[in-house]
Amino acid sequence: MQPRDLSAHEAYVPGRGTEEVARDLGMDPEELTKLSSNENPHGPSPDAVAAVEAAAADVNVYPKASHTDLTDRIAEKWEIDAKQVWVSAGADGAIDYLSRAFLEPGDEILAPDPGFSYYPMSARYHHGEVSTYPLSKAEDFEQTAEGVLSSYDGERIVFVTTPHNPTGAVLDGEEIRTLAERVHDQTLVVVDEAYAEYAEEPSAIDLLGEYDNVAVLRTFSKAYGLAGLRIGYAAVPREWAEVYARVNTPFAANEVACRAALAALDDDDHLERSVETARWSREYLREELDVPTWPSGGNFVLCAVGDASAVADASQRRGVIVRDTSSFGLPECIRVSCGTREETRRAVEVINDVVADIRPEAVEP
Ligand code: PMP
Repeated sequence: MQPRDLSAHEAYVPGRGTEEVARDLGMDPEELTKLSSNENPHGPSPDAVAAVEAAAADVNVYPKASHTDLTDRIAEKWEIDAKQVWVSAGADGAIDYLSRAFLEPGDEILAPDPGFSYYPMSARYHHGEVSTYPLSKAEDFEQTAEGVLSSYDGERIVFVTTPHNPTGAVLDGEEIRTLAERVHDQTLVVVDEAYAEYAEEPSAIDLLGEYDNVAVLRTFSKAYGLAGLRIGYAAVPREWAEVYARVNTPFAANEVACRAALAALDDDDHLERSVETARWSREYLREELDVPTWPSGGNFVLCAVGDASAVADASQRRGVIVRDTSSFGLPECIRVSCGTREETRRAVEVINDVVADIRPEAVEP
C-alpha cells in the first residue's frame, strides 16, 4: 500500500525554532534570539491573550458564532461583504481554499522564484502543476507586472507577494491593476499581503470592487502576533460569494483563534507598536550590517553574506538564529527578522562579527 506519487512534492522548510537549536547546541533556549520566522517580537496583544484564556473553557463546543463574528469584523474593517471573507487556518489555509476552488487536475499556477514555498506545495496537493517567474537579484528582485507577464502563459492562478518574502520588495498597486487587466479572464491573481501591515501601500483589497479576478491573502501571524494560533483569511470578489461553503474544511478556524483575532483587531496600540518596531529594526539592520542588504517593506531584511549556511550556523552558535535562504534558492543570503531594539542590536553585533571572522567574499546586491 502506497500513497499517490508524491515525488514532485517538497517538504516545507520552516525557520529553525529556539528549542530545536538549543537542544542541538546544548544551549539554554533563553540565550537564543530567534529571528528566523518573521514573528512578532512583542508577542500577541495582551487583549488577545485574555481572549485566549477566556475562550479556553468553551472549547468543547464547535466554533460557529466566533467565526461569524470574526468574518463580520474583517468585512467591516475592509468595507466588503462578509461573504467575501474566507477565514482559514493561517494564510496557508486560504491558499489551499483557493487551490481547491480554482484548480482542475493539471491546471497550472505561476509563482515567484525565489518565493514562498507553499504556493507550489498547495498547487501540487491539489493535483496542479507549477511554473515560476524569476525575480532577479541583479535587478534587486524588482517586481513588475511586465516581469510577471513575460513568464505568463495562461496559468490558472498567478501569485504575487507584497511585501515579498524573502526579498522584502514591494509591488506597486498600479502594477497589480495592470496584471489583473492583462491576464486571461479565467486567471486569478492572488496578492499575498501577509506582511502588508509593515508596508505603506494601500491594500489590494481596495481593488476587489473593480476586478473579479483578484483575491488577497492576509494573516494574523505577523503584525498581530498570533502565528501559533493559525488564523488568516482571503478577501475575494463578491462574485464568488457561494464558493467558500463548497471548499472549506468544516469549522475552518478554531474558537480560540477566532476570539483572539477579534481581540487583536481592536488593539490598535499593539499593532502600531509592532509596526513601528519593525520599521525601526529594518532600517537599523540596513544601516548597521556590514553586508549588502535590500530595502524591505516587511518585518525582515535580506542580506548577502556569501556562504549563508556558514553564517547562519556561526550566528546561531553565538545565540542569534537567522534564516539561511538556501531553501528559497538563495544560498548566498540570510533573512533576518526584525526583533525588538535590543534583539536587533544584538543581531547586528553577532552577524557583523561572524561575517568578519568567516570573511565571505563580498556579494554585491
Ligand atoms: N505568505 C507569505 C509570503 C508568508 O511568508 C507566510 C508565512 N511564512 C504566509 C503566507 C503564511 O502565513 P500564515 O499561514 O502563518 O498565515
